[in-house]
Amino acid sequence: MSKEEERLTKSRLIDRYNRCLSYIRISITDQCNLKCIYCDPFARTPKLTHDDILRYEEMLRLVRIGAGLGLSKVRITGGEPLVRKGVYEFLHQLAAIDGLKDVSLTTNGVFLKDNLEKIQSAGIKRINISLDSLKRDKVMQISGRDVFENVWGAILKAHEMGFHPIKLNMVPIKGINDDELVDFAKLSLNYPFHIRFIEYMPIGNTRIGPGQQLLATEIQKELETIAPLEPIEGGGHQGPAVRYRYKDAPGEIGLIRPISQHFCGSCNRLRLTASGQLRVCLLSDLQVDLKTAIRQGLLDEDLKELFLKAVRLKPMSHKLNEECSEPVESQMSAIGG
Ligand code: SAM
Repeated sequence: MSKEEERLTKSRLIDRYNRCLSYIRISITDQCNLKCIYCDPFARTPKLTHDDILRYEEMLRLVRIGAGLGLSKVRITGGEPLVRKGVYEFLHQLAAIDGLKDVSLTTNGVFLKDNLEKIQSAGIKRINISLDSLKRDKVMQISGRDVFENVWGAILKAHEMGFHPIKLNMVPIKGINDDELVDFAKLSLNYPFHIRFIEYMPIGNTRIGPGQQLLATEIQKELETIAPLEPIEGGGHQGPAVRYRYKDAPGEIGLIRPISQHFCGSCNRLRLTASGQLRVCLLSDLQVDLKTAIRQGLLDEDLKELFLKAVRLKPMSHKLNEECSEPVESQMSAIGG
C-alpha cells in the first residue's frame, strides 16, 4: 500500500472490499408505539433503560467524528424516533453538523402531522413514512393500532408543505396486504410519492411464516398488470431501491430486494443502535460498542479508531440466503431499519 493509500484508509471509512461508507442510520430509541406483525410484534426484547440508551449529545459527538471520516448522509430511525423526548431539538443540532449533506427521517407517521413544522424548521426535507395498507382495519391488524387516518393525514400534509421526496415504505406479506400492491402503486399516478415495496426480511421474532414472503419479481409482475414499468436511470437519492415509473406518472415505484437480489456490493451504510453499538450490516449481529467507549472517556482520536475498526469488520455480503446462515437475533426495532 502506498503512503497516500494508507493515509486515505485512515481518514476515510473504506472497507476491505473497497466500499466507501458515507451513510449512517441512527436508531435513537428502541421503543415503538406500534407492534407490526413483521417487525417486533411480541415486544419481548427487554427495552433499554434510560441509562442504556445513548444520550443525544453522545450521538452528536459520534456523528461529528463520523463526518470527519467522510459520513455525509444520516437517517434517523428507531423503534419510532418521534416517541423520544427532545427529538426535534436533536434534529436541529444534527442538521447543523459540518460535512453532512443530507439528514432524513424514517417514521411510522403516527406523531408526524402536528410536528411537521418543527421537522421542517430543523432542516429536514426528506421523510420516509411506513404504511402497509390503505385500509383502516388492515392497518390495525398489521400494526395493532387504529392509526390509518392519522398517518394518511400526515402524508398529505407533508406533501402540501413541500417535503420531497416523500417515500412510502410498504412491506408486502402474502395473505395480509398482497391484494393492495396495485392500489399503492397507483398512488404514484396522482402524487409525486416514491412508493417502495420492501421484501420482508426474517429478523428477530415476528409473526411471519416462511411461505408469506413476497419477492420483488412477483411484486413487479403484479404492478405491471396495469401498465408497464419504465426503469429510471441515475437521478438523485440513489439507494438500494431499483426504481421505476409508470409513463408520465409524477411519482415513482421502488423495489427493495434485500433477499432476492441483494445490493451488498454497493452498500455504503453503517448503523448506530440506540444502545450505542456500531453495526456494519443490517443482517449480521457484528458490532462495535461505542457507548462503553464514549462513557469510559475515550478521546475523539480513539473513537475514530473504533469507527475504522468496525469498518474492517464489514462482511462482503449478508448470508441470509445461505442454508447454514446464522439467524439475526436482534429485533429490527432495536437495530433501526
Ligand atoms: N418506526 C419507524 C417506521 O415505522 O418507519 C422506523 C423504524 S422501522 C424498523 C423502519 C422500516 O423497517 C419500516 O419501513 C419497516 O416497514 C421496515 N421493516 C421492519 N421490519 C422489517 C422486516 N422484517 N422486513 C422488512 N422491512 C422491515
